[in-house]
Amino acid sequence: VFNFSSGPAALPEPVLRQAAAEMLDWQGSGMSVMEMSHRGKEFMSIHAQAQSLLRELLSIPPNYRVLFMQGGAIGENAIVPMNLIGRTGRADYIVTGDWSAKSAKEAARYGKVNLAASAEGSNYTEVPPQATWKLDPGASYVHICSNETIRGVEYHWTPDAGKVPLVADMSSNILSRPIDVGRYGLIYAGAQKNMGPSGLTVVIVREDLLGHALPATPSAFNYQVQSENDSMYNTPPTYAIYIASLVFGWLKAQGGLAAIERHNRDKAAILYDYLDRSAFYRNTVAREDRSLMNVPFRLKDESLDDAFLQGAQARGMVQLKGHRSVGGMRASIYNAMPMEGIRALVAYMEEFEAGHA
Ligand code: PLP
Repeated sequence: VFNFSSGPAALPEPVLRQAAAEMLDWQGSGMSVMEMSHRGKEFMSIHAQAQSLLRELLSIPPNYRVLFMQGGAIGENAIVPMNLIGRTGRADYIVTGDWSAKSAKEAARYGKVNLAASAEGSNYTEVPPQATWKLDPGASYVHICSNETIRGVEYHWTPDAGKVPLVADMSSNILSRPIDVGRYGLIYAGAQKNMGPSGLTVVIVREDLLGHALPATPSAFNYQVQSENDSMYNTPPTYAIYIASLVFGWLKAQGGLAAIERHNRDKAAILYDYLDRSAFYRNTVAREDRSLMNVPFRLKDESLDDAFLQGAQARGMVQLKGHRSVGGMRASIYNAMPMEGIRALVAYMEEFEAGHA
């Protein structure tokens, strides 16, 4: 099938095949990765490999630490302020959709949150231009969600927060294109879209931001403690890290992030071009802010939604239903979605349109 899930999402087939082949006996060790001590030499090598591949793919500068944690991005909504907001007690949040709204709400439990900009007025169909943001120069950090998974709104530029560290939830677009990590103070992402299975959260943090955690911060969620223990203060999500290391290797073999970006742009363009030509379907996100990863669309006649989904399912295209909070359809087309999946979807949409228009 072609799996358009928003996450946990489809993984590259060669990765799953390799994991299946190694399931019972990882590289002659006689053990499954699931059965290994996280402190044994076998898993330590997998962990080191995952770290170094991620550093290479994203060109992470040496003054940044990579942490492999648990708790997901929703956990980070609390873990980020617990670790960073204590610097001044205040933080700026830019709300461009459901996920950043949730982040801001959670952070307010730990300090003063300033909603520096919100796209609520446009029903979350755009990224407000930075000139309209009301940033607080005394904020501990500025938080954005670089890609809003539910409504398909993505930053195609990097905000300039001056001396204030920029924090980004990149759960749904990390590794989809090159980024300049040096422009951020901290990046976090749940693994289950572009990196691997759920259970792993990747945090990339600039060293000078460590050591400011609120006293009540749990040790397992204290970035400094995790950094000092190479993400092994508690047992890390070992199997998820292993799969992520295979995904990173696969990405490198595809030509790295510049190559995957070209592929992702080509894929998204085919789908958006068709949506723009059709009077039967629509996507209402501002063109310059449209997500390359999550493409929500609606049928003009929503009474046909179920028939559309059933027809898609019958043709092997699954998990196209939009998020329960907004309805409609959503095609999530992360790195692992091949071009054939996009072509099959557009061919089906044309066929459905011709049959019902
Ligand atoms: N942030 C973004 C951008 C997401 O897409 C998601 C999940 O789908 C989350 C946060 C929540 O992640 P989790 O459920 O792993 O905590």
